[in-house]
Amino acid sequence: QQAVAVDYQAVLEQIAHDVSPLLGSGRPAEYIPALAGVDPARFGMAVADLQGNVYGVGDWRHPFSAQSITKVFTLALVLAADGDALWRRVGREPSGNPFNSLVQLEYENGIPRNPFINAGALVVTDALQTLTGDASSELLEFLREESGNKELAFDPEVAASEAGHGDRNAALAHFMASYGNIAGPVPALLDHYFWQCSITTSCADLTLAARFLARHGLRADGSRLLSRSQAKQINAVMLTCGTYDAAGEFAHRVGLPGKSGVGGGIVAVVPGRCTLCVWSPGLDAHGNSVAGVAALDRFTTLTGLSVF
Ligand code: GLN
Repeated sequence: QQAVAVDYQAVLEQIAHDVSPLLGSGRPAEYIPALAGVDPARFGMAVADLQGNVYGVGDWRHPFSAQSITKVFTLALVLAADGDALWRRVGREPSGNPFNSLVQLEYENGIPRNPFINAGALVVTDALQTLTGDASSELLEFLREESGNKELAFDPEVAASEAGHGDRNAALAHFMASYGNIAGPVPALLDHYFWQCSITTSCADLTLAARFLARHGLRADGSRLLSRSQAKQINAVMLTCGTYDAAGEFAHRVGLPGKSGVGGGIVAVVPGRCTLCVWSPGLDAHGNSVAGVAALDRFTTLTGLSVF
């Protein structure tokens, strides 16, 4: 694709204008108080280019709970450390089911469909825990380094609420352990998973931190995290599985690899070009940000920057 210059700031301002009628649509995640209390009308969006210049609009520096967006980074760390071994324990197919569903696990012998549903992310976290002995700290350190924001931190209140409402995740982990697909003790795994979900970030942080996916595997400091092929593989799984049982709709509308979280954030990647992060806490029935998906739809429509 021809590298046409894009005025990212002007595009972001246009998008903020275009999605404003949607702000307040959808509902924030209600399963924990720290998420339920966030104003659904908030909206921020940022773009980072390959050099690390960041452009933003609205609440693009406002902190929010990263939640499942962290699953992309945990996956990258495991693939970087251990190559393809992970793919014996987790698949790469869209699930077509809600992110916290149990149903397919029994038919598929405790092998989750993909790394971005909760079951898959638990396996990936277990793998990182086995490799490093401290999965959540490894993840936090990586996000700090790649975003350049040393203040990034876990939110203890969110982590505690996750644990307090964690029966479904505990069920998933124990069920997979019964098939031998969890190596470490389940209680410690759940702690690391909940701490990961609790990391507080912003659109500015996440656009920068995700740049290795647009830079074909190169980290912010120029060192190689992933092979080009691994970076492609993560982008592909984001496209097909990153927005759960709405991944087909997201690909249709946005046409980019993307990963959502129930905090209302979505990270998207234009390989070889830029990364995006949008945040608006009102969610649709699949757990994806209503205004966030619309904003990314507008971005690819206005700029022509999609993978298709
Ligand atoms: N903490 C949430 C959970 O495990 C994360 C889900 C999400 O962001 N989709 O249920």
